[in-house]
Amino acid sequence: MTERPSTPDWHTLDAPQVGEHLKSPPGGLSHEQAQRRLAQHGANALPEPPRRSALRRFLGQFHNVLLYLILAAAGITAFLGHTVDTAVLLAAALVNALIGFFQEGKAEAALEGIRRMLSPHATVVREGHRQEVPAASLVPGDRVVIASGDRVPADLRLVNALQLRVDESALTGESVPVDKSTEPVATDAPLGDREGMAYSGTLVVQGQGEGVVVATGTATELGGINRLLTQVERARTPMLQQIDRFGRLLAAAILGVSALTFLLGTLWRGQPAAEMFMMVVALAAAAIPESLPAILTVTLALGVQRMARHRAILRHLPAVETLGSVTVICSDKTGTLTRNEMTVQRVAWAGGAARVEGVGYEPQGTFCIGDHAVDPGAHPALRLCVEVGVLCNDARMRAGDGGRRVEGDPTDGALLVLGEKANWSREQGKQDWPREKVIPFESERRFMATQHRAAGGEARICVKGAPERVLDLCRAQWTDAGEAPLDVDGWRRIATDMASQGLRVLALALRSGELPGGRFDGDALEGELLMLGLVGLIDPPRAEARAAVAECRSAGMQVKMITGDHAETARAIGAQLGIGSGKPALTGAELSLMDDAELRRVVQDVDVFARTSPEHKLRLVRALQAGGEVVAMTGDGVNDAPALKQADIGTAMGHKGTEAAKEAAAMVLADDNFATIVLAVREGRAVYDNIRKFILFILPTNGGEALIVISAILFELTLPLTAAQVLWINMVTSAALGLALAFEPPEPGIMARRPRPPGESLLTGLFAWRVVMVSVLMMVAALGLFLWELERGTGVETARTMAVNTIVAAEMFYLLNSRYVLAPVLTREGLTGNPYVLLSIAACVPLQLLFTYTPQMNEWFGTAPLSVGEWLRVVGAGLFVFLAAEGEKALVRRLRGPLAARLRERAA
Ligand code: ADP
Ligand code: MG
Repeated sequence: MTERPSTPDWHTLDAPQVGEHLKSPPGGLSHEQAQRRLAQHGANALPEPPRRSALRRFLGQFHNVLLYLILAAAGITAFLGHTVDTAVLLAAALVNALIGFFQEGKAEAALEGIRRMLSPHATVVREGHRQEVPAASLVPGDRVVIASGDRVPADLRLVNALQLRVDESALTGESVPVDKSTEPVATDAPLGDREGMAYSGTLVVQGQGEGVVVATGTATELGGINRLLTQVERARTPMLQQIDRFGRLLAAAILGVSALTFLLGTLWRGQPAAEMFMMVVALAAAAIPESLPAILTVTLALGVQRMARHRAILRHLPAVETLGSVTVICSDKTGTLTRNEMTVQRVAWAGGAARVEGVGYEPQGTFCIGDHAVDPGAHPALRLCVEVGVLCNDARMRAGDGGRRVEGDPTDGALLVLGEKANWSREQGKQDWPREKVIPFESERRFMATQHRAAGGEARICVKGAPERVLDLCRAQWTDAGEAPLDVDGWRRIATDMASQGLRVLALALRSGELPGGRFDGDALEGELLMLGLVGLIDPPRAEARAAVAECRSAGMQVKMITGDHAETARAIGAQLGIGSGKPALTGAELSLMDDAELRRVVQDVDVFARTSPEHKLRLVRALQAGGEVVAMTGDGVNDAPALKQADIGTAMGHKGTEAAKEAAAMVLADDNFATIVLAVREGRAVYDNIRKFILFILPTNGGEALIVISAILFELTLPLTAAQVLWINMVTSAALGLALAFEPPEPGIMARRPRPPGESLLTGLFAWRVVMVSVLMMVAALGLFLWELERGTGVETARTMAVNTIVAAEMFYLLNSRYVLAPVLTREGLTGNPYVLLSIAACVPLQLLFTYTPQMNEWFGTAPLSVGEWLRVVGAGLFVFLAAEGEKALVRRLRGPLAARLRERAA
């Protein structure tokens, strides 16, 4: 343990003292200092909750009704002295437990990896400038910047607080947000009253601030109560619950049928009890799908992993299933459907307008009026617009590997680039007009304001924001000839004109001198500004978004765009993407006037919502859900959290999203991209399909075996399969073959189907029929061949070996059938599309050869070597099952069309 100086009561010190005490200069630590302190204090992280030990995870595998049955059977066979059967039963239980153990370990590791992808970041000032670092690398003395939506990453003594409000419920249980300042408080002030502190794990709900890190990791107040906040939830999905119930039901049914068979055999047929018991064990072993739980976990985990590879990170497992039933995707515009790379293309002022050339963030491009290049310095109004845009700005440009990029809001970045094109840089702005105060941009407010003071003491206020909002704040307008009356209609016309071309429009306004009484808040600005001009920015749609929107259509999903932007801009961009077909957008103001019933009607027809605030999102989600829709909704701000929680798939942005939004979401998009949601839906549908395919594969195998044993008992035939043989089949087939279906890629037509009704039962009519039919086919193939062979005088052991091999061969073929529920597999893609299917079949062949030919196996399992002719009959019987199953699909496909048409007719 390194010795540490005793820590003072940080909340009682004033801010400069804290900085001094922790040797934290205003420009932040150097990288080297930070490194050293990290080595001394350790990572800023809480210890992970203890994992279940390997032994407990292993024992957990046996905690399953189906396995209890097997273990009980093993106990009784041991008691009766059938050592081989006991050994095989135990081996079957062990093999399944091992598979479950390793697969679950893999699934846990995958979820763990995904949790790490969600690990929070923090904005820190080091070496004089701001940068993003993993929150775990913070050290005492670091200067951290926090803003609304952030989780406070460490315990901070605030040195700067701007309308800062923090929700401390994670720590104090008090859910009303508290105001923060930089003031010291008394030593004995309780945690909730320490205004000058921001504690790790609490949530910034408003404003901005900066603080010096005073404690990290376990030394924080949160570390004291030791609770981790970001965790990937491991819930049982509704489908898994359904399958659990099904498993219990199946176990009860198997017990019932076994008991009945035992009674019938002993009392009615007069068989000896011990022999009958072994038969019943064979029956139970045949009917139990031991590998079901393990394979389900694997399929889900693989799906979640595949989605993460497509940059969609799931935070709640049930979302895997829900994704497949989504019927409406509500998406943000800026950055999700568009690229969020803004460029100013137009500037309009009272009495003139200019075009600006150049695209992207490179500071090259001329200003043109009509066809002539002009010098922006020669037009005072234009020049002022550019200045205000640079001053009222929170972004900065950074040179990166792939060209320049914006740090901060791209809208702000575009205005910086505009300044550079006019030779007016951010640095110059900071020098001439240092900033004094700021009202940061927030989606609800829709404007940003700053107050600046020149060296000479002269003050000015700069405002930029949505035109309607800024016009409301203006008293008059600025012209080259001085103040003029405000022409509200004129400005509106220009704004609408720019917006209808898909441009994002911002208004710029100015005031010379500070407000009366030195006030600086939204209300006080009203009627105090001079309108300067408008700028129009392009933000091109993402190239992949249009195709993704079209894919949603064909997949039976609606796409709605919900934006804070101007109605005309929203309409124009929507039309470019194929959303809303150019119909007028519904604005937040109109939406506020509607009651819930009316809104419910309207949301069905309107696809573009403009000038909305976060609380509108919540109402929209509710209205859509009331209409029976399953809603995916995107969001990024703190205030989006309620809508994200309410939505069926709350989706947060990985880059621009706040911690608060990510925590409320079920899914996080690592690339903020709309197309990623559509990919996730596709994967969600595939996961569900694969689970259904696996069930469709595994149940008939068990069903077939059970039918064989039951008929043998009822008709007093020689038992075609011994208990040991049945277990061998289940071990080989379920473990090796079934697993391959978890790797099945999405079917080609998967996004041409309607969304799956939520809560739909796994075993639909078609499925139940298919299970019964294939069970009977398997029985007919194996039992038929067995009886025929006995008839021809083949020995019992050989006939049994043939029966076992017939079932395995039939399963190998049927695995191919199961790749598609309805589509034919007799195509190149159908036969070879999933290499794991071919691989698992290839892996089973040598196992069957061992089973058939090695003397040791012959002794244990009572098998005998087969001749080529016998093998041909075995494979032929398997092929029969395959062809019959394909034939049934063709029949269903043929019947389905007319049947559906008839039902539609009747409904009409
Ligand atoms: P969205 O993200 O849905 O496009 P926003 O809520 O970001 O919408 O923006 C709504 C409106 O607020 C914009 O149309 C614009 O007029 C204004 N605005 C956006 N960003 C800024 C900013 N950084 N500063 C001032 N005003 C802004
Ligand atoms: Mg925005």
